[in-house]
This record gives sequence, structure tokens and C-alpha cells, in this order.
Amino acid sequence: MKFDTRCVRATIDPDPSTGAIVPPIFQSATFVLPGVGESLGYDYTRSSNPTRFQLEKMIAAIEGLEYGVAYASGMSAVDAIFKLMKPGDHVVSSDDIYGGVSRLFNQILVNYGIEFTYVDSSYPEQVEAAMRPETKMLWIETPTNPLLKVTDLKAMSKIAKAHNALFGVDSTFATPALLRPAEWGADIVMHSTTKYISGHNQIIGGIVMTDNEDIHEHLRFIQRAVGAVPSPFDCWLTMLGVRTLSLRMQRHSDNAMKVATYLEAHPKIARVAYPGLESHIRHDVAKRQIDGFSGMISFELKGGIPAGVALLNNVKLCALAESLGAVETMITHPASMTHAAVPKEEREARGLTDGLARLSVGIEDVNDILEDLESALTKV
Ligand SMILES: *Cc1c(COP(=O)(O)O)cnc(C)c1O
Repeated sequence: MKFDTRCVRATIDPDPSTGAIVPPIFQSATFVLPGVGESLGYDYTRSSNPTRFQLEKMIAAIEGLEYGVAYASGMSAVDAIFKLMKPGDHVVSSDDIYGGVSRLFNQILVNYGIEFTYVDSSYPEQVEAAMRPETKMLWIETPTNPLLKVTDLKAMSKIAKAHNALFGVDSTFATPALLRPAEWGADIVMHSTTKYISGHNQIIGGIVMTDNEDIHEHLRFIQRAVGAVPSPFDCWLTMLGVRTLSLRMQRHSDNAMKVATYLEAHPKIARVAYPGLESHIRHDVAKRQIDGFSGMISFELKGGIPAGVALLNNVKLCALAESLGAVETMITHPASMTHAAVPKEEREARGLTDGLARLSVGIEDVNDILEDLESALTKV
């Protein structure tokens, strides 16, 4: 099956007992056993549930990987991956990662003896220099949040292999419709399914995929032992989203390219970060590596915090909301919202300037999005 067909049809067969074309939801906590020591494959939903298994198989099939393990959130998916680490292990990570992931690393996992080094992974030489004998994981987000840095995954895979480290990729921003990191050498691929994969702001979820049987067994064990599992209903809602993933990602990418081009030419905007623009420093890598540039754009307004606040208070169609990757266009201003607690000097050092805004371009008619931005920018 070709990719677009896999999105719509992979693992979706008519229900054998009724012919229902949409799979039923097994919203059940437990399963009756035919006899002591026997089962029909399921016993208790924390360990196994048919709807969850179907979601896991479906996304793994789309990603082109053998195994998928679903979690109750993207964060619990990342947490499960890092439970592969032991005290004394060292991790090299992209510096511009999702805020929740850096909080997990810096405020929780460090207390369990895991050490982190952050590098700008768009420069492979910085990654190479950070590797140590005790480095057990190279953790890459691409494109990154919120600065849309792009990392050359093939170069990362070479470095990880040379140092006997696992290579994990948070591929939430690209999705398997645009990028399949395992094809570039990743051992572990993770998504917050909350975002593009489910696509409609309807659930919170995460998934981890691999071809490695030992890693899969470990992830399965953590899933059962810790119990951060998504509900059967959430799994079912996620599957509905997956079926239109390919179509949505094309529209997100087309719309975002037009919005990024418009913003780059606007006199009130200092710079735009979008991997599809020729001005992006890793545009060549992005072009080679991904089949579309996705819907995320960040841009810097010339007027700092007041300009950001004015823009966000004057948009109407663009929703002022955290999160990303859904059908609606959403906008955030990191300096006054997601990163308000980070001291200004640290923000600036990380490139999260006061005028930075992040746009998750939806699948509306792009002219409506452009009109909304145009009218809000006149008030900035
Ligand atoms: C949202 C997000 C996460 C965390 O996922 P949740 O589903 O919110 O727990 C991790 N990584 C990236 C890149 C994200 O965008």
C-alpha cells in the first residue's frame, strides 16, 4: 500500500461480527476469561486493549516501523523512553526542544542521575563534540519548537552509531506524512499525537515506535507498569484523525508556505523562521529530508513585547491558544505566554526574543488567515 492509502486503510478492516466499516470502541476495563489460565488475548485494559492495539499498529504501519506503544500524553511517551536510561547515563539533546520536555529533563530526570547536554543540533559538529563515552542517547527534535531549527538526521545517526548511543527523534512537528526518521537511521520515533496526528484538538496522547524488539518490550513493560495509557475512546478519536493525516499535512504545508512568504515581506516583521523559505539556514537539509515543510512558523515582530501583545489581542480568526497542529490556526507569544517564567536574558540567549510569535497554520482558506494577520498587523 502507498503512503496515502496506508493513512486511510492500514489496519482498518470491517468488524467481523457486524460489518461495521468504522472499528468499534472496546471501552472496557476488563475482559472475561474463558477459563483459569486462558484468555482471548486481553485481560485488563492497562495491559492490553483492542482499540489501543489497533491505534498502535495503525500509526506504526504509517511510520513504517514494526512496533508502536501508545501513552496518555506526549510527555508520558517521552518519560517512558527515558526510563531506558540509568543513573550515570548521559544524554545529548537539541537545545530548542518543547518546553515540557526540557522541564522533564531539567527538573525531574536529573534527580535520577541522568545528565543532559544541550547543543544546537543544526550544527552536527556541536553534537559530535558533546558526545561522551557514557552518552546513551542522542535526542533530536526537528523541526524544533519554537524556532523551527532543522537537523540533518543522517548526520545524527552516524554520530549516534559511532558512539554506541541510541538515536531518538521527537517527530511531532513533521509527522510521518512528511518525514519518517527511521529511514534516516533513528532507533526510536516519538510523537505527541495531541498535535497533527489526531489533528482536531480533540485528545491528549503520545506514541513511541521502533523496530527494535528489546526497546519495544521495555516500552510495553513501562506502559503496563506505570499505566499512563490513553483511554479506548481517545485511541478511537485519534484513529479518526490519522485517516486524514496525509491530506491535512499537504494543506497545512501549502498554507504555511504562503503565510511565511507574506510575513517575510511585511515591513513590521524583522525575520521569519520557516524551513520552506530559502532564507532558512537549513533549507537545503529540509528540502532533502522532508516531503513538505509543515504548518509551523515563528516570526519576530520589530516592536518587542508590546507588538506581540497587540498582534495577539487583535487577531480574530487565529486562535490565541497554546498547542499546535490542529485544523484551526493558532497563535502564541512565547515571551508573554509559554516562556514568561524564563528570565529575559536566558530567553534572549536561546533566541526566544520578546517580539517572537509562533503560528500554527491551520487548514482554513489561506486568504482568510492572511486577511486576519493583515488587519491585526495594522494595529501593531
Ligand atoms: C506537545 C509536544 C510534546 C508533549 O506532548 P503532550 O501531548 O502535550 O504531552 C512533546 N514534544 C513536542 C514537539 C510537542 O509539540
